[in-house]
Amino acid sequence: MAYDTRTGSLLLDELGVQRIINGMGWITTVGGSIMRPGVVEAMAESVNFYVDLHELNKTAGNVIARYTGAEAGLVVAGAGAGLLLQAAACIAGSDPDLITQLPNTEGIKNEILLYDGHVSGYARCYRAAGAKLNIWNEGDEDPKDKLKSLIGRQTAAVAYLFHQWNRCPISLAEVAEIAHERGVPVIVDAAVMLPPVDSLTRFINDGADMVTFSGGKGLRGPQSTGILCGRADLIEAARQNNSPNHGIGRPAKVTKEGVVGLVAALQLFVDADHDAEWAEWQGMTNAIVDDLRDIPGVDIRIEDNDPDRQGPNTVVYFKDDWDGPDSQTIIANLAARTPSIRLGYGKRGNEIFVAPVTLQAGDEAEVSKALREELTAHHD
Ligand SMILES: *Cc1c(COP(=O)(O)O)cnc(C)c1O
Repeated sequence: MAYDTRTGSLLLDELGVQRIINGMGWITTVGGSIMRPGVVEAMAESVNFYVDLHELNKTAGNVIARYTGAEAGLVVAGAGAGLLLQAAACIAGSDPDLITQLPNTEGIKNEILLYDGHVSGYARCYRAAGAKLNIWNEGDEDPKDKLKSLIGRQTAAVAYLFHQWNRCPISLAEVAEIAHERGVPVIVDAAVMLPPVDSLTRFINDGADMVTFSGGKGLRGPQSTGILCGRADLIEAARQNNSPNHGIGRPAKVTKEGVVGLVAALQLFVDADHDAEWAEWQGMTNAIVDDLRDIPGVDIRIEDNDPDRQGPNTVVYFKDDWDGPDSQTIIANLAARTPSIRLGYGKRGNEIFVAPVTLQAGDEAEVSKALREELTAHHD
């Protein structure tokens, strides 16, 4: 039977799972991203041979180092595993006894300083390695002085997050300066920061000792991969704590196909015509906005170059005279359709947004049609 990418009929028939239309962006729960064709080909080729995984990891690490400007790199099982290994590397280093001891961190410096505006569910990944989070904020003090006062003998690392939730009053470069004066490494979660391409080098240039990126979000590599890059000694420690070695990262295995796919994705990402991709997203967003512009009670906007959004988003804001269902109900109605349409909700308030980066050709017309129906149904 032919596999139809529009209807996902093979999945539908054999697994009883439906293709959804993803207007939420590069989000794990709806499948992350679609790999570029060259990635799938590289993975398919690697299925057919054996390699020494240590040798493959080293080679892939060299490619990552070249593209990020870091001393070393490692393919990890998603940015989540990147966080786990950042913590493990900073706590246990390359000491075989300590690697075996994790996640028990008794008697070892085990504290990771994390700004309270950077706390998310992903902080869990640091704790999985045995780290104790020391969550801080400046209170009434100067944030630099506060951070200086908090770094002590138990501090294994200072963590920094780049995301829409990044509200830290001090920059990464300033944090790095303070931490480095005290001999403490700075570990960065940049899972969602690709694109743009210059994120690959930006955080390393700002002084980060280790940075992790998702491989399966905007990089469009295999879903279960990520990048870890940084200081050679710390990356070596991360490697020793990771699969296929028997450290805390052993359950976060990256297959040879995953390593090969991540490297291919990284090369294709750097070489891609990002302006052309942006123009394509812009075209879909313009089409949706044009279709919906005249609907009463809502304010349909394009939000472009907004760090909180992936690509140029269509955003539906509800005006004071809106007399229809609330946005959560609309989102649920769209999700209940066949095919299920998943749109984003509420980064600013109760707005609905469409991220074009994960729409596939033709999806924009279905999104417009369905949104128009849901936004006008209460007038029928
Ligand atoms: C998605 C995400 C992660 C986890 O990345 P995976 O590649 O899915 O493991 C970590 N941190 C943040 C901020 C994220 O958004």
